[in-house]
Amino acid sequence: MSKSCPMMAMKKQSEHPCFGGDHGKAGRVHLPVAPGCNIKCGFCERKFDCANESRPGVTSRVLKPAEALERVRLLLRHPKVGDKLRVVGIAGPGDPLANERTFETFRLVKEAYPDMMLCLSTNGLLLPERIDEIAALDVHSLTVTINALTAETGAKVYEWVRYRGEVLRGEQGAALLLEKQLAGVEAAAARGLLVKVNHVYIPGVNDHETLDLAVKVRNLGATMMNIIPVIPIGLFKDIAPPSDAVMEMVRNQAELILSQARHCRQCRADAAGLVGQDIDLAELHAQAG
Ligand code: SF4
Ligand code: SF4
Repeated sequence: MSKSCPMMAMKKQSEHPCFGGDHGKAGRVHLPVAPGCNIKCGFCERKFDCANESRPGVTSRVLKPAEALERVRLLLRHPKVGDKLRVVGIAGPGDPLANERTFETFRLVKEAYPDMMLCLSTNGLLLPERIDEIAALDVHSLTVTINALTAETGAKVYEWVRYRGEVLRGEQGAALLLEKQLAGVEAAAARGLLVKVNHVYIPGVNDHETLDLAVKVRNLGATMMNIIPVIPIGLFKDIAPPSDAVMEMVRNQAELILSQARHCRQCRADAAGLVGQDIDLAELHAQAG
């Protein structure tokens, strides 16, 4: 079991708008500084210059760390968001840990705004080896996306995994990813980070492992789970996504094991503002001249 304290975890949860805090009162920005990824999920289609699509992995453009810091500065001066911005997150459009810019950006933000909560989403492949740096940056919350609990299922979800210059396919790649994800969840919880596990629910592919995954990550110290219906794109373009009723049933069952993040809106990699009331970034930068 992890050494994380349940009381501390509850306090931390109430501070973050997406982990149990108030979406209407606290704002967040995702800084899209991380274009590269070290795995290929079958359902992933990352897009740039796409202003009309709202889902993870989508951003209008990728920012350099200094530009990302400038975006935070502009948001803090914005009349609607400025006094509400609490969380600076990095969630893509690729995997944040596969991009050194993630760490540089967090350093810049922490230096300029020490009270800002930092939040990170990752596929977890590099989590065990970067967790000390993440903890040293005082990252508040971490989301690890785990879509399979066995190598057999993982081989159907992930096309490949690239680790230390080597591309691993099939069960070999999936097994390595799973090992790193579980070790990373445990290490992060043991260091006091708030850990949420995202899980893309793919009917007929990984749905038989969802509840066992909830048990596994709860035992490793995760405090929340977010089960997301698959978007029918990429390898899974022909799959029928689960109905709302099925998602409700699965989340109800998983809730008996681990608290469920039902309010998540699957925001874009460059979302900014209050959740559900994102501000227009082109306008934000245009006004700044
Ligand atoms: Fe896409 Fe994220 Fe999967 Fe990488 S980890 S392939 S960016 S969904
Ligand atoms: Fe919050 Fe979910 Fe949006 Fe992240 S994707 S900012 S957790 S609502």
